[in-house]
Amino acid sequence: MKRVSILNNVIGPVMRGPSSSHTAGPWRIGLIARDLLGEPPTRASLFFHPESSLAVCYHDQGSDLAFVTGLLGRNLTDSKFPLMLEEAHREGVAVTFGLKAFPEADHPNSALLEATGPSGKSVRIHARSVGGGSIEIASVNGFSVFMTGDRYVMILETEPEKVQSTLSLLRKWDKNPSTTKRDGRTACLGTSFFEPTKEFIEEVKNTPSVLSSHFARPVMLPPCGKETFLDIREMIEAAGNEGLTLGEAAMASEASLLGLPGKELQQEMDFRLSVMLESVERGLVDRNLKTKLVDPVAGDIYEAESKGELFLGGVHARAAARSMAVMHVNGAGGVVCSAPTGGSAGVIPAVMATLLEDFGLSREKVLSCLWAAGVIGWALDKRSTFAAEVAGCQVEIGAAGAMGAAAVVEAAGGTARQACDAAAMVFQNVMGSVCDLVQGIVEIPCHSRNAALASQAFLAADLILGGYRNLVHLDETIDAVDSVGRMLPAELRCTSRGGLALCPSARRLPRRDLP
Ligand code: SF4
Repeated sequence: MKRVSILNNVIGPVMRGPSSSHTAGPWRIGLIARDLLGEPPTRASLFFHPESSLAVCYHDQGSDLAFVTGLLGRNLTDSKFPLMLEEAHREGVAVTFGLKAFPEADHPNSALLEATGPSGKSVRIHARSVGGGSIEIASVNGFSVFMTGDRYVMILETEPEKVQSTLSLLRKWDKNPSTTKRDGRTACLGTSFFEPTKEFIEEVKNTPSVLSSHFARPVMLPPCGKETFLDIREMIEAAGNEGLTLGEAAMASEASLLGLPGKELQQEMDFRLSVMLESVERGLVDRNLKTKLVDPVAGDIYEAESKGELFLGGVHARAAARSMAVMHVNGAGGVVCSAPTGGSAGVIPAVMATLLEDFGLSREKVLSCLWAAGVIGWALDKRSTFAAEVAGCQVEIGAAGAMGAAAVVEAAGGTARQACDAAAMVFQNVMGSVCDLVQGIVEIPCHSRNAALASQAFLAADLILGGYRNLVHLDETIDAVDSVGRMLPAELRCTSRGGLALCPSARRLPRRDLP
């Protein structure tokens, strides 16, 4: 089972909208490609399989900008992000994008990236953006690898008779290096959570039998420690035995995985919370956000609620308006915190802002709620995926709603078991939810679904706290979500080829970003 970190894969990265698969993932791939090349690129070409999800929406969802931002070594929050193609031109980097059927394409978000530097050195990588900003590099220059950006990687192509001596060299840094072959050629592969010394890198460079070397740094916090739990069942049991809330157990688990002290983890989480709260505020106040299809009306809804103009109003409506506000920022390409994805980035900030502002919870308590939310996403990612291209909207906004429900139970002082039951209930309610984004843009139905799930998080928590017994365990519920998602036809998994996306009125909608 894969190793999942709450900070690396669930609550974060801090990114630009509209979609973590299409901005955060490509950005990380671009960063790694730049590293592997070993020098700033002068030319780069990106190819997408004609039948892939990226082929349909790489431009509309800003993947082109994100790949280039990474290739230029810039931060995804760089204020020049919308102008990154011009920035590349200004820096002398010629970038092209194209559709091409390539045999390696085995994922809806597969991409083939070729980059060349001023020395003539080049690198060709097959990469996948697998959801929530997570990535996989499947091959480098035709050599099979498996890189997820969570550790340092060194790939040394060597003469066939020098494989053993090259492996010995790598063992100075990685105890268990491996080999990978293609067309009779061999490369030795070393990986480590710990950075190699400058002396070691120099030694590698000066080894004559190393024909070519490629080195990449991690693009996230290296999970250099131990996993404490394999599933939610184990976590609930441990939390019960040790008298911990779900949030406390989650943070202890993350500290063990990342090998970092609690104080550092809290600082990381606090930074993410700040980004979330800023995105709520901006989305409520800025009525000129450049969304493409929907009007940025969250502020109006929030105001109407405060004036008593809604039929019901209250916490659920305010949480919904806050969630929609973040999605307006996300839709306008603004800075948000993926939680667990960009398309579902509204729910968790809305729940946190509501707990802070409407219930007066302390910042410390809200951080504990964020950890509780995070561990629900952790459980989903371990057993399934955040990629709507693979399993539909249930693993994006459904996951965010489930995470939010656990956070509310944590806020109310409920047990770890109750928090997980509330999360399971949300998943059960959204089972089968399809991804049918209109015109390939993360706005319809994404903005209103985020609003609805922020509201549902409070409802599910109340039902559990009031005595509803969830009879299908969260781990099993997640397995069912995954299996249902994989049964969905490709038309309903982020390709805009089914559902709402095909409604005539949806297809006719004018886009504000086009003349
Ligand atoms: S419909 Fe759901 S899964 Fe699809 S883009 Fe929108 S938020 Fe993401």
